[in-house]
Amino acid sequence: MNESRMSGRVIALDVGGTAMKGAVLGDGNAVEGFHQWPTPREAGPERVVTAVLDVVDDLLQRTPDARAIGLVVPGLVDDQSGVALYSENIGWRDVAFRSLVAERTGLPVGFSHDVRAGGRAERELGAGQGADELLFMPIGTGISGAMYSGGRALENKYGGEIGHLDVGSGERCACGDVGCLETVATGPSIARRYNALANTELSGAKPVLERMVSGDPLAARVWNEAVEALAVALKSYVTILAPELVVIGGGVSAAGDLLLDPLRVSLQKKLLWQPMPVLARAALGENAACLGAGLVARDLLDPSANATTTGLDS
Ligand SMILES: [Zn+2]
Repeated sequence: MNESRMSGRVIALDVGGTAMKGAVLGDGNAVEGFHQWPTPREAGPERVVTAVLDVVDDLLQRTPDARAIGLVVPGLVDDQSGVALYSENIGWRDVAFRSLVAERTGLPVGFSHDVRAGGRAERELGAGQGADELLFMPIGTGISGAMYSGGRALENKYGGEIGHLDVGSGERCACGDVGCLETVATGPSIARRYNALANTELSGAKPVLERMVSGDPLAARVWNEAVEALAVALKSYVTILAPELVVIGGGVSAAGDLLLDPLRVSLQKKLLWQPMPVLARAALGENAACLGAGLVARDLLDPSANATTTGLDS
């Protein structure tokens, strides 16, 4: 990367279903602090779009010398045209974010998908450094993947939906299909499945995990079924794309070795001849997508570098 690209401040914004995370990145991508705002999802998609623009204003007031803005959002995202096509979670359709933010600020605006941007951040700054065959798979309220093959990001906007591989759960998924990985292994589904067995009202994977650690067999059963489902899905992925490294992020990855150790054992058992990938926990945690937004913004400062060194369009 050349110096002009790495110098100066850029604004990064990651819009999630519950919160928007913003950061100002200084020279060399040094983070000058993260800021967080609630996503007013309950108020409807139009209100969320307005809130995103307001947050951009807020960040720009803090950073009047910003040279570019990077924005990443969930759902179906067209990086090339700068349009958020669809988000089931937030409810918007066809929001031309790049032009909206560019008109509002007069700055160059990079736009991408949150998981693809997070995968890029892990590959450039985190646990995926040096891996040409890489899967970044955050497990949170949903599960999807950012994929690298031959050192290039696979940018197909419809690709990477690992959460909707059929793992045979027989349960109805929010997507309309039956048996998807997301019905078993996301934070909300782990809590839902435990609550149904134990007649509790826990929320998220963490309290289920705590019960498992303290010896609750129902919690262990639900957790093991989540791990098994992840191994089934990963076997399919490994068979087709053979990643050397799988970086697991998102809220559920906070379980650390309680997730990775049994997942390694289960996946290894299922792989008869396929090479076993290294499984690693993400290094950037909840900040991966926001940092990825910063990288997308940084690309705009050096268009010549963009064509050759980045997998993501800006
Ligand atoms: Zn599904």
